[in-house]
Amino acid sequence: MGFNKFGLSDHVLKGVTAAGYTTPTPIQALAIRPVLEGRDLIGCAQTGTGKTAAFVLPLLHRLASEGVQQARGHHVRALVVTPTRELAHQIQDAVATYGRFLTLRAISVYGGVSMENQLKQLRRGADIVIATPGRLLDHLQRATIDLSRVQMLVLDEADRMLDMGFINDVRRIVGALPPERQTLLFSATISPEVRELAKRFLRNPEMVEAGERRNPAETITQHFYSAPKEGKIDLLVHAIAAEHMESVLVFSRTKHGADKISRRLERSGIRSMAIHSNRTQSQRQRALDGFKQGSFQVLVATDIAARGIDVEGISHVINYDIPHYAEDYIHRIGRTGRAGASGDAITFVARDDQQHLRKIEQFIGKKLSLKSYPGFTPLPVEASQAHRAPAAHRPAGQGSGPAQSGRPQHADRPHQTARPQHSGRPQHSGKPHASGKPPQGEKTGSGGRHGKPEHRRGPRESKEGAWSNQPYHGGRGRKRHR
Ligand code: AMP
Repeated sequence: MGFNKFGLSDHVLKGVTAAGYTTPTPIQALAIRPVLEGRDLIGCAQTGTGKTAAFVLPLLHRLASEGVQQARGHHVRALVVTPTRELAHQIQDAVATYGRFLTLRAISVYGGVSMENQLKQLRRGADIVIATPGRLLDHLQRATIDLSRVQMLVLDEADRMLDMGFINDVRRIVGALPPERQTLLFSATISPEVRELAKRFLRNPEMVEAGERRNPAETITQHFYSAPKEGKIDLLVHAIAAEHMESVLVFSRTKHGADKISRRLERSGIRSMAIHSNRTQSQRQRALDGFKQGSFQVLVATDIAARGIDVEGISHVINYDIPHYAEDYIHRIGRTGRAGASGDAITFVARDDQQHLRKIEQFIGKKLSLKSYPGFTPLPVEASQAHRAPAAHRPAGQGSGPAQSGRPQHADRPHQTARPQHSGRPQHSGKPHASGKPPQGEKTGSGGRHGKPEHRRGPRESKEGAWSNQPYHGGRGRKRHR
């Protein structure tokens, strides 16, 4: 079953072919036709299911098939509202790819970058605007954008927009649109709040659902390890070395924690970068590009910042801090094991984390077993603290490295370990990590003084600091087979 059964125009079909797609994903198979027919639609699909093309393809077709007259003026005729700037970027890329044989103009409008360029682009006109709520509202308030002729509205990742506290912004934006329009709403979950939003803004919508969001892909092997609260960083360094992890996404609950983890990994000789909403757009892009190109072995991210990460071939996802929302667990681990490749998801569970583990169990409907990480012996707290103390404060006679700091039984310490002394963990082929230096020690916790989580209902600063997306499981993606 190909794309030509929908009645998409030849130009759009050529764009699909150029993108390399031959078979519609389930959400595309269900959503494209009703959107082409002009119906409102609620699409329940998790990220990575191909939902972008599910709305972009029929949107392009509908805009392009209108009279040239209308197109010439480049009035905003379609508006896509999405929670994060990275998503806005990705959607714009998708529009450029699928629409390359059309003459429609699309621009993206998001926060964290200067207004100037956006103003210039808006003055030149655009058929499609892809925007994050905050910046779009700024433009509306300054009257630098005219949404009075919008015919199609897409609310992308509606659940995330609500989670991130955008509800009022979205209401005001929709209030500025003509009531006569087609509205599409995509969401990974259809919570009562999303339903309420749909009831308010959509008319007699068709509802389509694709993908079982509670089940992680079968290609992902899940592991849960008890972790000492104080020595989690040692466990992380150990695990990366022990399993020769090649391309690792580590989740921290807080921005500050993400920075600390990354610094600590760097000191252990593991190339690493952190991304979170306090980083500028260009810093985040650089980190992501570096990770994609393999310049960094590890990317440490907060949930919000990780949402746009569309990187193929992530071998391991490590929940350094267990997610407090069970849904996030699915989102996080879905970054690996894509496109039929195998992947490992590792979750560190500290003693205080039991309740969150239970929540994940309930959510995915499966009993999870907690194990000790083979070959890892946590440091006793006092030794751990001595080990972490700056060299200047250590008692005379102690060196700067861990070897002199009373670390017990670490024949398999991360920087010395080629393989753990155990069985049962998968051994991945690939580059051993570059760890040569002994860890210098820095306490890396998830809470603490600066331990504010990168919160779902946080201030604007973190609202627009988000990423979201995952590739379609049938898409590209490097395959790793055990
Ligand atoms: P999305 O869920 O829209 O972010 O899409 C995730 C990934 O799936 C992107 O990398 C798309 O390029 C890819 N994709 C979307 N539709 C298809 C398709 N029909 N065939 C293959 N790959 C696709």
